[in-house]
Amino acid sequence: MSTPDPSATPTIPAARVATSGSDLPRPAAIGSVRPTGFAWDRAPMMLYWELTLACGLVCRHCRAKAMKRALPGELSTEQAVSFLDDITGFGDPMPHVVLTGGDPLQRGDLYDIMAAAGERGIGVSVSPSVTPLLTRQSMHAMHEAGSHAISLSLDGSTAARHDGIRRVQGTFDQTMAAFDWAEEVGMPVQVNTLVSAETVDDLPEVYRLLTTKKVARWTLFFLIQTGRGVMLSEITPQRSEQVMEWLHSLRASTPFQLSTTEAIHYRRVLAQHMEAQGMDADQIVRSRAARAFGVRDGNGIVFISHVGDVTPSGFMPLTIGNIKESSIVDLYRDHPLMRDLRDPSTFHGKCGVCEYNQLCGGARSRAWAATGDALGEDPMCTYVPGARRASSSHAVA
Ligand code: SF4
Repeated sequence: MSTPDPSATPTIPAARVATSGSDLPRPAAIGSVRPTGFAWDRAPMMLYWELTLACGLVCRHCRAKAMKRALPGELSTEQAVSFLDDITGFGDPMPHVVLTGGDPLQRGDLYDIMAAAGERGIGVSVSPSVTPLLTRQSMHAMHEAGSHAISLSLDGSTAARHDGIRRVQGTFDQTMAAFDWAEEVGMPVQVNTLVSAETVDDLPEVYRLLTTKKVARWTLFFLIQTGRGVMLSEITPQRSEQVMEWLHSLRASTPFQLSTTEAIHYRRVLAQHMEAQGMDADQIVRSRAARAFGVRDGNGIVFISHVGDVTPSGFMPLTIGNIKESSIVDLYRDHPLMRDLRDPSTFHGKCGVCEYNQLCGGARSRAWAATGDALGEDPMCTYVPGARRASSSHAVA
């Protein structure tokens, strides 16, 4: 395998299903790694791997500040495959790997990396950018190479709205086509939609549009003001509460799964609704909604940058090591920051005393972006924990 040419597009394999051999391990599906309690101490559920910063889009909120050409220092193919070997050290089941960027389709060795992951029993999904590199042919190729799912971004219900965020005309129309190609090959689609002051009013129309498409999951991606995201505005905590109540109201009739990213307190909203229905703590924990409870930056999630730096998530650029020098298993399990992020008793402010902090814990990235303290409280949550209510009533008395 060769070192990738950053300017090359991947060589599309004729038909290669990396896991088709009966003697090969079966790649772990998304969600295979389960926590102990609410802590993913042994292995992350999801490992997000930024294969490159190169991307044909210039999105207004891009975390990675992606650019036309790859920067020097990207992992070579050999380093990428060596990293896959390292991931197997987590043991079974292994984390699911999301190949992201930038645009992973800019890597000339994308399908080699996917095949190597499949040979090691590592499940992968791809998060491509919608550019001319995403075609019916490359959609088929990702499927053939073993991608479990694909994620597409849709930040507006019209071309004007979506292309205004993505800053490349025609992206909306091509995204609509990509839905059809994914359905054609039978690849589940997760749709990511930015939630910011600029997009929030359009969410009902985006939802309506998605109900006309084959969608497996819709994830509302609440803005973190990092990277180019500082050019946009977060919604207020009160507005976020309204969005979550609206999201909850859709659950009874929605044709696809609903989730949030960097709005962890949606789990608190879900738990409060279940409590209001009379469910006890045991029933809540065993509910279907509880499968993602506890997942947050550093707990069930870890991020690898294009040069191999390891951070708790893509939105928290606190480097804890580099995979060229250290084992990802050791960094994830034992780095003091990662241990703290998995333990809500280390959190500060109201997230540290909140009765929901095991299943929620707040968006650690937002706490860090707002205060510089990764263990601080999430400023987007309106909830006042019982301990705080009790202490303020004592103060009044
Ligand atoms: S106070 Fe923190 S832990 Fe509690 S619900 Fe809000 S974000 Fe979650």
